[in-house]
Amino acid sequence: PVHRAEEVQQQRSKLPIFGEEQAVIEAVRENPVVIVAGETGSGKTTQVPQFLYEAGYALKGMIGVTEPRRVAAISMSQRVAYEMSLSKDIVSYQIRYDGNVTPDTKIKFMTDGVLLKEIQKDFLLKSYSVIILDEAHERSVFTDVLIGLLSRILPIRAKRGPPLKLLIMSATLRIEDFVENTRLFRSPPPVITVDSRQFPVTVHFNKQTPSDYVEEAFRKVCKIHRRLPEGGILIFLTGQQEVNHLCRLLKRTFPFHATLDSEDNVDSQLDKTIKAVKHKRHKVPLVHLEDFPLVPLDEQTGDEDLGLGDDELLDDDMDSFLSNCQSGLKEQPIHVLPLYSILPSHRQAEVFKDPPEGSRLCVVATNVAETSLTIPHIKYVVDCGKQKMRVYDQVTGVSTFHVDWTSQASANQRAGRAGRVGPGHCYRLYSSAVFKDEMQIYSEAEIQRKPIDDLLLQMKALNIRKVCNFPFPSPPKQENIEAAERRLILLGALEDNGKGDFASGITGLGMTMASLPVSPRFGKMLSLSHQQGLLPLAVWLVAAMTVPELLLERPLTTGNAQTSAGPDKDDRKRLQALRCTWVGQGDSLLLGDAMVLLKAVGAAEHASCSGPRSLSKFCAKYGLREKAVIEVRKLRRQLTSEINLLLPNANLPLDPFLQPPTPDQMRLLRQLLLSGLVDQVAKKMGPGPEREKKQLKRAYQMLGMEDPAWIHPSSVLFTSSPEFLIFLEAFQSNKVYLRGVVAIEPEWLPTFAPKQCNILTPL
Ligand code: ADP
Ligand code: MG
Repeated sequence: PVHRAEEVQQQRSKLPIFGEEQAVIEAVRENPVVIVAGETGSGKTTQVPQFLYEAGYALKGMIGVTEPRRVAAISMSQRVAYEMSLSKDIVSYQIRYDGNVTPDTKIKFMTDGVLLKEIQKDFLLKSYSVIILDEAHERSVFTDVLIGLLSRILPIRAKRGPPLKLLIMSATLRIEDFVENTRLFRSPPPVITVDSRQFPVTVHFNKQTPSDYVEEAFRKVCKIHRRLPEGGILIFLTGQQEVNHLCRLLKRTFPFHATLDSEDNVDSQLDKTIKAVKHKRHKVPLVHLEDFPLVPLDEQTGDEDLGLGDDELLDDDMDSFLSNCQSGLKEQPIHVLPLYSILPSHRQAEVFKDPPEGSRLCVVATNVAETSLTIPHIKYVVDCGKQKMRVYDQVTGVSTFHVDWTSQASANQRAGRAGRVGPGHCYRLYSSAVFKDEMQIYSEAEIQRKPIDDLLLQMKALNIRKVCNFPFPSPPKQENIEAAERRLILLGALEDNGKGDFASGITGLGMTMASLPVSPRFGKMLSLSHQQGLLPLAVWLVAAMTVPELLLERPLTTGNAQTSAGPDKDDRKRLQALRCTWVGQGDSLLLGDAMVLLKAVGAAEHASCSGPRSLSKFCAKYGLREKAVIEVRKLRRQLTSEINLLLPNANLPLDPFLQPPTPDQMRLLRQLLLSGLVDQVAKKMGPGPEREKKQLKRAYQMLGMEDPAWIHPSSVLFTSSPEFLIFLEAFQSNKVYLRGVVAIEPEWLPTFAPKQCNILTPL
């Protein structure tokens, strides 16, 4: 029996799904696969696991729930534990490198990638009695593959052992892809549609589509706040920097304490605003050292911000800002909250709390708020209609961030957020012609847009050779499968059977790589690192390279309007100088940005031992993202224990301190990095004709590519410009930039050419 607080019981009873408990349980009892479709906020994620628990599904195995986003896995496990008055030992979560699962866990929330790894270890998922694939409409790569795999696992479990049940939960979008796909399920599974008690939302289009949607959003929010009755405002922008920028403007315009009454103060307030507006111009991309990022949705996609393609505010628009700011003094305050995926969890959780008395809630979000989290009290939605997406060139691996129109389906999801508490309004900052003519009806499934190296390796490890025959809800493009297969052969993870039939089997090295919870390249580095005593260093380095945006180019905003006004150019220079002193000269400098990462995480661990808040202070001073430092630590611990399992005599300690590498080790680390980045090599371009010399100053040629590339200015090797280098990422903005740069010696290249490893031999 489950005990719930009175208040919880009352809230539950108001959710649209509450009346469907019987229907859900009966459908699950009678069918192997059931689809539950309902609008965001109807109670699917929080209630369905509880229904199953009370129907006894946790007695003989766990109830597993997958989420494409880490944010959702963590916050939903906490919410369900709270609602059921159970501890986190019973309702737990597991994400790639963090979790609180115990032997007593009954309901386990996890990211979809985690379940895919578990299938590798236990194909029949014997510890589960039910799997719920949540947010299936998001069409994340891993969820798509899980649907395909589970469609094969269920019939086997039906014959052997207690049957496994599958629930696919989705917003009411495009469920035909699952229901009517006879390659997946021979007879179409029943669909339970939750009647959403959605209130009508009036959609208002702009007559014209402004070029600067951040400014337009600001204007719109000011208008709503001044003219319309109470109710929260939710604003959709495309990235973290835009979100922070708009938050700052709104906080200044509608502050909590109107301390400014003399004209002088008003002026200085305006000065600050102008400065804040102007310093937008100088923003330079943040450091991003993620490799092929086949990781859960919330770690990359449009949600992350490299500061590229940033909104710029034009001088002409300044007037409107000023008038807005001026008249904004002493008005009803706005409780402004940002929401994006790399925000620390405690700040993300703020959006669920009631706003302070007398203020209006205003959440400025990226598309995290589109479907996975339901924010209470929202009555007005302001939608810029765009999203930031990472676009890959499948051949060259060069990626770019594009800010582009969302799909009509996403726009409607966003609008729907306004109709949860009562009739609402959605202000679209674009014209209806844009909606009709420029937006696709649905967004493309993630699997069709991204490199699938990681996925392909996982599938080969499951002995699925002909990946093109796999029952994907929507299959990846053949050319993407082929490109990924070629890269994996080059890394030595797949056999080169010489037939070019794209049905290669996995190698021993590939199996080791696949068993590690990092991308194939980093998996290879770890697999080779047991030699020469490199393993402990490699674990630190791979952990630091895997977690995105560990090094910031300037400190994250504190969320405090008063302290965030200063321009950040000096901060950036200071940080850059600091990092250069970290690497010094010689071997250490040649290890380049990898050395910076090692120093950063090593020093952060030392710092965190010297008292409360010492880590925060350290991170603020050295421009590290604190949440990332903690993630690196967790990932390091997880990698350590996985390696100890894999290599029983490795005896890798969970040592919190990093022994700095010796010059010899630095050299070996460079080789180790090269082993995982064999195809990401660049050579400095020789002197050409006089005319080109200037243009191509310090330009590099990437292996197999014609266009020149440049070391990104944030790299510590920017000025020394070595002859040969490897890079973690090639990124296109106004030109192609290489990030995460390490110098290599040309004589190493033949050694590391496809698969041969004379210096280092695989495990
Ligand atoms: P769905 O999965 O159908 O989108 P959810 O089960 O996520 O719906 O949400 C149901 C309700 O629970 C929503 O009204 C949401 O606001 C509320 N809710 C979810 N998480 C929390 C939380 N951490 N704190 C307070 N309320 C929450
Ligand atoms: Mg949900």
